[in-house]
Amino acid sequence: MAKRKLTKQQQLRIKKIQDNRLLQKKEKPNSYSNIDSESEHLPGTIVSHYGATLDVEDASGNITLCTTRQNLEQLVCGDSVYWVKGKELSGVITALAPRRTLLARTDNYGKLKPIAANIDQVIIICAPKPMFREALIDRYLVAIECLGIKPLIVLNKVDLLNENETRQFNTQLSNYADIGYQLISICAKSVNGLDQLLSFLNNKTSILVGQSGVGKSTIIKNLLPDEKIKIGKISNTKEKGKHTTTVSRLYHLLTGGNIIDSPGVRDFGLGNLNSDEVINGFVEFRPFIGQCKFKNCTHIHEPDCALLYAKLEGKINRRRLNSYYNLLEQVKDKKQSG
Ligand code: GDP
Ligand code: ZN
Repeated sequence: MAKRKLTKQQQLRIKKIQDNRLLQKKEKPNSYSNIDSESEHLPGTIVSHYGATLDVEDASGNITLCTTRQNLEQLVCGDSVYWVKGKELSGVITALAPRRTLLARTDNYGKLKPIAANIDQVIIICAPKPMFREALIDRYLVAIECLGIKPLIVLNKVDLLNENETRQFNTQLSNYADIGYQLISICAKSVNGLDQLLSFLNNKTSILVGQSGVGKSTIIKNLLPDEKIKIGKISNTKEKGKHTTTVSRLYHLLTGGNIIDSPGVRDFGLGNLNSDEVINGFVEFRPFIGQCKFKNCTHIHEPDCALLYAKLEGKINRRRLNSYYNLLEQVKDKKQSG
């Protein structure tokens, strides 16, 4: 599937990265005391993020604890980097490769903070318990669409549903299938509950999102029964054992594919989207955007509104349109409150 265009914010970010890389090329690597002058710049992937230090995995799966050059922007799990071997089995990250996708959130000071990079798929986990909320799924979908990442909707805890409830859930979820989203139902607690999910994880780097209690930890734990295997070969760094609080981590699945996990990744939400991004995040609205009589149509009450016509003709789901109005209000409120 073709990726969506990057947002302006992402384009700016990439430009900054490229400028940074140009800057780095002009520097002499041996101006850093920790780097051997003969060192080669090696490609690697960031697999753990501890704050000031990061684990970088090389092409053979070996992991080295690295610091970063100060002129590099904040690095995150999933980042492709270049690094050089330093003294005592440690390393220094010297450059960041352009990111295909970037998950970011605004911090308490309104600054955009990266969470994870080069993600191919965001898996929205929902469940009958805690309460199933379509509005929350819509909210995730908008945020994911705006990042140009592919979503997958997973209904977990199907063991809690009787026949009637199963039918009800299938009807609700079929609306998402109708607009092109892939969805599966699983029971993370059962022995073979994750088989179907595994096939969707293959060859991709995915993250799991969803409200607390839907089963994300259970799924990750069951997908990765042996942590030593999932992070590849054991780190060759003496320092490694000192770190107990991993902020964020990329896990390799035995069956192929990666999962990036951290509290920040799981809580990822709407961020600071604008109203254009919100409407574009409703994929089935896209053919009707720009087709209304009035250029500044709010799609609420105007005559000759393409979206309202589409609703009447059953091309747009009434509930999704209401969800759009709600999200738009939230985006406006956020802007007004600062
Ligand atoms: P998280 O907050 O999204 O990480 O959710 P957890 O993984 O901590 O799960 C919350 C609760 O749901 C735990 O008590 C799990 O045992 C339970 N749970 C997870 N998956 C299933 C499932 O497939 N069926 C049932 N019945 N319970 C589940
Ligand atoms: Zn309209």
